[in-house]
Amino acid sequence: MLPLHQGIVYGPVRSRRLGQSLGINILPRHQKICTFNCSYCQYGWTRNYPSGATSSADAWPDPDVVALSVGAALERLKYHGEHVDRLTLAGHGEPTLHPQFPDVVDALLRVRDEVAPGLPLAILSNSSTLASPAVTAALERIDQRYMKLDAGDATLLRRVNAATVPFDQIVEGLRQLPHIVIQTMFVRDRLGRIDNAGDLAVSAWITTVSAIRPDAVHIYTIDRAPAWPYLQPIAATRLHDIARRAQAVGLTADAFAAPGEAAMPGCATERK
Ligand code: SF4
Repeated sequence: MLPLHQGIVYGPVRSRRLGQSLGINILPRHQKICTFNCSYCQYGWTRNYPSGATSSADAWPDPDVVALSVGAALERLKYHGEHVDRLTLAGHGEPTLHPQFPDVVDALLRVRDEVAPGLPLAILSNSSTLASPAVTAALERIDQRYMKLDAGDATLLRRVNAATVPFDQIVEGLRQLPHIVIQTMFVRDRLGRIDNAGDLAVSAWITTVSAIRPDAVHIYTIDRAPAWPYLQPIAATRLHDIARRAQAVGLTADAFAAPGEAAMPGCATERK
């Protein structure tokens, strides 16, 4: 399990999917806050849901403070001649839950334009907040949207992610959001309770993802200690099978299963 981030900026982290990525954690410093409780979460079980979060409003970093931290980190990297491929909003929880999420996005875009024009701003999100027009409008201002969908039906979504948001609401939100990458974590457990990599589960997932029509699909599995200790990674051969099935229906799908891959720590978890 990973410790929670102590600050706003972390990395740069080398990720096979995202390249050299500078992570941005806008969650309160000492709390994982999420609408999901994923079996594979690398930050452990969710104890703070948005409605029951113990954090006061000021525990969330102010948008200007986020921008200052990121600007300083970019200046430091520039000074040392270090290259980054993108800024990535992720961290130990769901970033779109920040009460001032739209302001955070605008502040980040401003500092990016000042210090590193052209550097893409990306987000790893669990897709649970898309019923909010303010959140979706802010997401549309972000250059690259990596949106989680680990199941093709409500039952499996409950088992894998313990989502507090209805499956249909998530799928409808994803259908409305333009130019997204769907990211899917495939896992199974030794007890037979969780398995989204079986044939039936994959068929349902492909049907659902096809209806969403994303620009691309990223398929991967765990490579760090998950919250649910009985969880197992899916073999690379199976991940590639799943990618081929997705490609067969016209989806642009890639499997990321290289052993020892350094993933981007952040929710969404490639490792969020
Ligand atoms: S993996 Fe991401 S979406 Fe799932 S519980 Fe952890 S922080 Fe939340």
